[in-house]
Amino acid sequence: MSFLLLEKVTNLIFPNVCVSCECIIDKGYDLCSECSKKINFLTEHYCNVCGSVISNNIYTCGKCIINLPPFKVLRSVFAYDEHSKNMIINFKFFDNLNYVKIYAKWMYQVNQDIFQDAEVIIPIPLHKMRLFKRKYNQAALLAKELSKLSNLPYIPLAIKRSRNTTPQASLSPKQREKNLKKAFKTSNKEVIKNKIVILVDDVVTTGATVRSCSQEILNSGAREVRVLSLARTVNDCGIIMQKS
Ligand SMILES: [Zn+2]
Ligand SMILES: [Zn+2]
Repeated sequence: MSFLLLEKVTNLIFPNVCVSCECIIDKGYDLCSECSKKINFLTEHYCNVCGSVISNNIYTCGKCIINLPPFKVLRSVFAYDEHSKNMIINFKFFDNLNYVKIYAKWMYQVNQDIFQDAEVIIPIPLHKMRLFKRKYNQAALLAKELSKLSNLPYIPLAIKRSRNTTPQASLSPKQREKNLKKAFKTSNKEVIKNKIVILVDDVVTTGATVRSCSQEILNSGAREVRVLSLARTVNDCGIIMQKS
C-alpha cells in the first residue's frame, strides 16, 4: 500500500476532530474555526501574580496586593466557561487521552516564561479514592506530557493528599480553605528542596487548592512555586477576579 493511500485510509478510520465539538477538521488543527472563535484564550492583560484578567493600566490585582499567594505566578490557557466545558468534560470523564498531548502543547507553547530556570514538574495529587473513581489524574497526565516537552523531571509522588477531602465543588470559598488546610503532605522533600517547582493542575476554580498545595511545597523547602493550569474560572470570588 502506498504511503498516500495508507494516509487516506488512516484519515477515514481516525479522522482529525475538533477537541471541543468533535467535528472533523483538517489535519494540523486542534479546533474548528467556530470553536476557536468562541474559546476564551487568556491572552489579555493579566495580573502578574495570579493571572486573573485585569484592566491594562495595572500589573497586580487588588487581591494579590492584599494577600500575596504562596506561588510566584499562576497561568492558565483558557477560561473554563460554557464554551470550553465540552473540552474539559471530554478530557476529565472519557478516555480522550489524545487530548492530553494537545492540551499540554498549548500549556507549554504559551507559557514559555514559566519553564525558564524551573527544575521540577509536580502535579496536584488526587486522593486515591477519587483516582479510583476517575481512573486518571488529569493533572498528572498533563504534568507528565509537559515534562517530555520541557525536558524537566516529572515527580508524580512528591506531594500526597493527606486525607480524603470533600470535593471542592460542593463547598463555599471559606469552607474550601478550611477543607484544604493540611490536605497535602510532602512525601519526598529531597526532590523539591531549594528547587523552582512547576505545579500543574487541570482546572483552577477559586485557587484554594493550588494555594494550599503551593504552601506545602514552600514549607518543605522549595525556592519558588509556579502554577500552570489548562483552564480556570474567571468569575469566581476567590483569587480569580471577574473579567473587567
Ligand atoms: Zn469545534
Ligand atoms: Zn492577582
